[in-house]
Amino acid sequence: MTDSHSTKSGTRGDKDAVFALSRPSRCFGCDSKLLVDDIVRLEEKPDEKEVYCLKCSGLEDFEVLKAGNAQITRLAKKHSSRHFVILKWSELWKTYERFGLLVERQALQKAREQSS
Ligand SMILES: [Zn+2]
Repeated sequence: MTDSHSTKSGTRGDKDAVFALSRPSRCFGCDSKLLVDDIVRLEEKPDEKEVYCLKCSGLEDFEVLKAGNAQITRLAKKHSSRHFVILKWSELWKTYERFGLLVERQALQKAREQSS
């Protein structure tokens, strides 16, 4: 498991992370309604967090792969040119928990074909 080298400088937010909403919201870019567990990208602004849907983030070809199936996860990562860790805020623990991965749709399809 030698995932990503941590070369992030300065910013606290992980650039390769996206977020599953823990409460409904609206996209800052296109104003579309976002529901709980929708995947979004967050931009930290000085006084607030701006929420962007996958479309506005250029990630509409990506799909959610929930954590739990190690084989599919491994294959999907292999086939996807890039992937993002999905984090979800836990009100209970006041921390971010791992929700799954965001991978390219075709990569996920391939992974499912190969694992069955
Ligand atoms: Zn949007």
